[in-house]
Amino acid sequence: MNHPTASQPRADALPHGAAPVEGDAREMLLEIDRLSMRYPVRSRGFLQPRQYVHAVNDVSFSLRQGDTLGIVGESGCGKTTLARCILRLHEPTEGRITLRGRDITHIQGRELREARRDMQFVFQDPYASLDPRLRAIELVREPLDALGRMTRAEADARALALLEKVGLSRAQARQFPHQFSGGQRQRIGLARALALNPRLVVADEPVSALDVSVRAQILNLMADLRREFGLSYVIISHDLAIIEHVCDQVAIVYLGRIVEYGPVEQIFRHPQHPYTRALLESIPRPDPTRRRRELDILGDLPNPVSPPPGCAFNPRCPYAQDVCRSTVPALAERRDAGLPGSHRVACHLAAELPEAVGVV
Ligand code: SF4
Repeated sequence: MNHPTASQPRADALPHGAAPVEGDAREMLLEIDRLSMRYPVRSRGFLQPRQYVHAVNDVSFSLRQGDTLGIVGESGCGKTTLARCILRLHEPTEGRITLRGRDITHIQGRELREARRDMQFVFQDPYASLDPRLRAIELVREPLDALGRMTRAEADARALALLEKVGLSRAQARQFPHQFSGGQRQRIGLARALALNPRLVVADEPVSALDVSVRAQILNLMADLRREFGLSYVIISHDLAIIEHVCDQVAIVYLGRIVEYGPVEQIFRHPQHPYTRALLESIPRPDPTRRRRELDILGDLPNPVSPPPGCAFNPRCPYAQDVCRSTVPALAERRDAGLPGSHRVACHLAAELPEAVGVV
């Protein structure tokens, strides 16, 4: 398991709960409905049945304009595949993706290119994602040139304005990627992502490749850009400390399924699923008075080609019973425990587990 690191962004980086736009009147930006993604793998013999990697399984959630959703899980749990499906870099096997009320699940060609203007990707490794032959201004201008709706002077002016917005100077706009630090390259990646004025930015581990000292700067910049441009983020991370400070909602993913979903503060205070509890208890906290109960998770993530029957977490769960080995638990509300309807958990025994120790 990847253990979270304690990056501490500014305390007011992104508020929990309400986003800085009007309450219920906010536009429903993204709806993911029962999304699944399977990849065929090479069969072991001519007569062997074809096998599949079940990377994403029956995932549903929605995101309003201005909200930020964190998707958390171990390496190999399917969170990056889910992000790539949202952006339609992969066409999902099942389910539906609705962006601003429009079904984009299977669109192609010009329709897909137009839909992608509303959603952009920020990569984990800013150096690998930037063409080393282009100057910073050219990297930011490239999407505008491809769209072909601006003159060269207009595109240059917008690229320069965006680079200044992310904290780079006019002189730096003429430099090549290798002349920047990791944090500065991620600033270029953010400016490039904003060039087409998107509604949604999907960021895959946006600060995990950076020095700890600059992580908070980039997260604070993302928060500022969110406020200024009314952006929504989907942030993929294994680092719960980042999710806690940056996101409104969080989806905990295990072997391609959401096992717990809800407002960040709610889940950090009242985690229900044994996997969520183990993840939270692994966050290092500088508080010697905090009670710490290590929850033992056994073994590694199972093979996604042959996931365990029933609850996929059952081989590692210290509470597993017979029902866990036969029936997949639904992601359900727990109003019986006084939890808000927005907090959902997929565990047969959630009502019977010992009370969790929150970390907020
Ligand atoms: Fe553990 Fe069973 Fe709950 Fe799965 S359903 S998390 S195996 S108790």
